[in-house]
Amino acid sequence: MTAPSIVRTSTAELYDAHVLKNYGRPPLTLVRGRGAQVWDDAGNAYLDFTSGIAVSALGHCHPHWVAAVQRQAAELIHVSNLFRNPQQGELARRIVGYAGPGRVFFCNSGAEANEALIKLARLHGVQKAGGVDGRCYKIICAKNAFHGRTFGGMSATPQEKIQKGFRPMVAGFSFGELNNLQSFADLIDADTAAIFVETIQGESGINPCTPEFLRGLRQLCDKHNLLLMLDEVQCGVGRTGKFYSYEYAGVIPDAIGMAKGLGGGFPIGAMWVRDRYAELFHPGNHGTTFGGTPLACAAALAVLDVIERDQLLEKVRTQSVPWHAALRQLAVDFPQHVVTVRGLGYLVGIQLTGDPMPVIAALRERGLLAPSAGGNVVRLLPPLNATPEELAKSVEIIRAVLTAKA
Ligand SMILES: *Cc1c(COP(=O)(O)O)cnc(C)c1O
Repeated sequence: MTAPSIVRTSTAELYDAHVLKNYGRPPLTLVRGRGAQVWDDAGNAYLDFTSGIAVSALGHCHPHWVAAVQRQAAELIHVSNLFRNPQQGELARRIVGYAGPGRVFFCNSGAEANEALIKLARLHGVQKAGGVDGRCYKIICAKNAFHGRTFGGMSATPQEKIQKGFRPMVAGFSFGELNNLQSFADLIDADTAAIFVETIQGESGINPCTPEFLRGLRQLCDKHNLLLMLDEVQCGVGRTGKFYSYEYAGVIPDAIGMAKGLGGGFPIGAMWVRDRYAELFHPGNHGTTFGGTPLACAAALAVLDVIERDQLLEKVRTQSVPWHAALRQLAVDFPQHVVTVRGLGYLVGIQLTGDPMPVIAALRERGLLAPSAGGNVVRLLPPLNATPEELAKSVEIIRAVLTAKA
C-alpha cells in the first residue's frame, strides 16, 4: 500500500489542473458564508449580492434552513420517484398555493424545469393535432432569451455565444421581439404549440416583459390554443417581491418553470402545470431519478417557511423602494458611466456605458460581489432577507467605485 500523499495543493492549482475550463473565474476562493456575507480563504469578507446567481434566497446558512436540512438528512435523503415521500407532497401543495390549481413536477435545475415545459408543449401539440405526433411542435420564444444549457433550453436561447459549436439545435423554435406583440403574432402558424418567455429576462440584462405585453401573449395563446409558458427560474420565488413576477401583470400562465431560489442553495427545480393541461403527462412519459427528494424538498420548504414567517415578499417590495432610488441617483450623478438602472425588487441591473467587468472587479476589491449580465449590465441579487443597512452598503460601495473611475 502506498502512503497517502502529503502534497498540499492550493485550490487555484487544483482548478488549473483538473476543473473543466468552461468558466473564466476571478482569483477568489470562497470558504464560508453567513447571511449576506461570504469569506474567502484569506479571511476577507464580502457582501454577497451574487447570491449564487439568485439561488441563496435566505442568504448563506440561514439557521432555520440549516436545521431543516440537518434534520432531514438524518431522517431520509432519497428514495426515488418510485415511491411517495411526505416532503414532496407538501412542497407541491405549497407551490400550487402560490401558482393556482394545477400539478407540480420536481427536478434538479432550471434547465430541467424548462425541458419539462418544452415536453409539455410537445404533448399539447400532439393533442392539438388530433393525436398526430411530430406535427404541431413549434414554440415561439423571445430574442435575447436565456433558458438553459440543455439542448431544449439552448435551442430556446437564440444567442451565438451559447449555441456556437453545438448545432444543429432542436427544431421548431422561432423568436419574437420582446414587448412587441405583433412580432409574436406574426410567427404563429398551424404548427405552433406554445409561447415561452422569461417574465424578466435575467442573463441578457434584466429586461422585463411589460404587463401589457404579457396580457397580450395570454390573449394570443387563448385565441390560437397555445400554451403560455413562463420561465420564472431567475425572477420567481420572491425575487421581485411577488412570489412569481408575472403576478404583477395579473395573468395566469399555463405552465411555469422555476428553480434557482426555490431550494435556497440546495439544487431543486420544478414545473407547475395548470390543471387543464396536467393530464398530458401520464405514467411513463417523463421522469427523473433525483427530482423531489425528501432532502431537496425539505430545503425548499424551509425557504418558503422563512419567506412566509418573516414576510419577505413585503420586505422586498418596501425595502427596494429607497434602494432603487439610491441606485437611480447613481445614473444621475455618473452619467458618463451609468446609462440606466432597471429591475424589480431584488433583481436589478445597472446598465453601464462600457464593459462591466472592470467595475465588477473593483466592486469585489471593495468587498461587494455582483455578477454581470448581457448588455454591459452589473446585476445586483441580494438575498431576500438583506437588511436595509446591507442594501445601503451596496450603494455606498458602487458609488465609491464609480467615483474612483471618474
Ligand atoms: C439560470 C437560468 C436557467 C437555467 O437554470 P440552471 O439551473 O442553470 O439549469 C434557465 N432560465 C433562466 C431564466 C435562468 O436564469
